[in-house]
Amino acid sequence: MDGIYRALLEAYGPQQWWPTAAEDGPEQRFEICLGAILTQNTAWRGAAAALENLRGAGATTPEAILDLPEPVLGELLRPSGYFNAKARKVRAFCEAVLDAGGIDALLAGDADEVRARLLALWGVGPETADAMTLYAGRKPTFVVDAYAYRLFERLGRPPGKRDYDTYRTYFLGKLGTDVWTLNQWHALIVRHGQQICLRTKPQCDACILEPRCEFTRGTSAQDEA
Ligand code: SF4
Repeated sequence: MDGIYRALLEAYGPQQWWPTAAEDGPEQRFEICLGAILTQNTAWRGAAAALENLRGAGATTPEAILDLPEPVLGELLRPSGYFNAKARKVRAFCEAVLDAGGIDALLAGDADEVRARLLALWGVGPETADAMTLYAGRKPTFVVDAYAYRLFERLGRPPGKRDYDTYRTYFLGKLGTDVWTLNQWHALIVRHGQQICLRTKPQCDACILEPRCEFTRGTSAQDEA
């Protein structure tokens, strides 16, 4: 694992995640959580455009978002796809923030506590909860996503079946609890998946992980057959 991490870090450098417009503080933590909801089943570009719309409408706090009629909120979130469902999820999250007494209260406690609290919210699944816990709460957890499944299956190093908890438990056990490292791991996997280890046409010739990848051995053998 260390070798893969070092290679990715060397190739791409430290990643500045999570991308936000707000300065460090509660507003930034709230924005990160909104982004984690808005990027569900969509590329980050769409989520970022929806966040920009919210900023343009002055809706950067739970109170301001809840003041918007739901159809208006839906229109602002349209670039993120599934915008009516996301409007309901965002509203539910804003209500949870206010019920908790603020974003910092919602994110207070150790990683397991925060994650369980977030998972209990409507519209928040494991990937979203882990993204919020790690990037907004700055608590140790591992975010599993399609890029992680693809990369470790291609490398020939899946920790088991393609299952969220299987991957998360394995990687947390291997990687430890350093928040910066966990932050970088997920961000680097995403960067590699978007830039080099593409879904349909992976750029293996340009890949720093090529010497340790089973996928290329499989495709080379097929090419030679
Ligand atoms: S060698 Fe190809 S398949 Fe393997 S990790 Fe790199 S891009 Fe992905």
